[in-house]
Amino acid sequence: MSRVDELEKENFDLRQLLEIGKSLNSTLEYNRLIDSILHTCLAQMRVLQAGVFVRREADHTELVLNRDYIGFELDHSIPYTIPPNHPLRQQLIDMSDCYTLQELNAALPADSPDCGLSHMPYELVVPLIARSDLQGIIVLGRRIDDSEFTADERRYALDIGGLAAIAVYNAYLFDRATIDSLTRLKQRHVLEERMMHLFKRHGDPEQEATERSEIESLSFLMLDVDYFKPVNDTYGHKFGDEVLRRLAEIVVQHTRPVDIAARYGGEEFVVMLPNLDAQGGAEVAERIRLAVEDFRFCHGDKELKITVSIGVAEYTPALDQLPGDLMARADEAMYEAKSSGRNRVIVARDNRQPA
Ligand code: GH3
Ligand code: MG
Ligand code: MG
Repeated sequence: MSRVDELEKENFDLRQLLEIGKSLNSTLEYNRLIDSILHTCLAQMRVLQAGVFVRREADHTELVLNRDYIGFELDHSIPYTIPPNHPLRQQLIDMSDCYTLQELNAALPADSPDCGLSHMPYELVVPLIARSDLQGIIVLGRRIDDSEFTADERRYALDIGGLAAIAVYNAYLFDRATIDSLTRLKQRHVLEERMMHLFKRHGDPEQEATERSEIESLSFLMLDVDYFKPVNDTYGHKFGDEVLRRLAEIVVQHTRPVDIAARYGGEEFVVMLPNLDAQGGAEVAERIRLAVEDFRFCHGDKELKITVSIGVAEYTPALDQLPGDLMARADEAMYEAKSSGRNRVIVARDNRQPA
């Protein structure tokens, strides 16, 4: 290759990397990011198989093979998990380099614990290093043309790994800042921001009609656990936390992917239900209420029944200037549910259908 050709190739690679960086950093949503990394690898590294090991949740220390891996045929009984003290991790951080199967076997102590990699027919392991730490690894499998990776290609893979590492690290941070660590529901500010966005669009006459009607209706649930303090006092805070975690799962199971469920405070959850009016919202709330009532929480060999009270309000432009107005009306309905006996769903006064 002439010097001019070399420079042209370098220029092309740099432009490609710039595009890859832009594309990877345009999403903070974990699953979409992993998908984007994998497809970048397939296209840029010309491989038929690719997988990514990353933390399953922001505060986990293990790196686990993300289930969206492409092309590998894997034995599902193997955990594919790299624990924090595995020698592979320090090796990758210290050397900041890619490794083939043979190179890695030679570099790691013979008694290194199995982390699943030996069950993946990989050609190259690429570290994702950002903030001087290993954020994950990319595992590349067979090449389209069965060729080996050249030194240039390995450098290119490392560059892609570097860009992917920053994107993964940002996604971890975003996850931490938006997800409630106990329940894994969204934090309330995420839902409030989303509602603010919808309210603004709805109230802005400048918006095109199609933009304005992004949603046709919106209902909102405010849920509070009944007599939860005595549960904590009797069975301990740890058990109380377990109950909250399980309740959050029940809420998610009974809502749609477009709905946003968030932890509002201690043992209060809120749910935003786009395109459901008060009646639709009340039906969802009733399903949640029944599912909670039917669930048996176990403390040792003791079975415990928990119930919830839920207030429902429908977005009503004349009443709700701000998201807080809608929330307050749902809260008021929830308190009415409490005072009228608990374990029930009450629709906000102004959204009730005439009898
Ligand atoms: P009710 O709502 O039916 O009126 O009675 P309650 O006993 O549930 O009363 P309230 O809603 O005021 O109680 C809130 C209790 O929730 C206080 C505290 O013990 C518990 N709580 C709040 N946050 C947490 C948490 O993160 N973990 C645990 N385990 N308990 C919490
Ligand atoms: Mg409460
Ligand atoms: Mg309560």
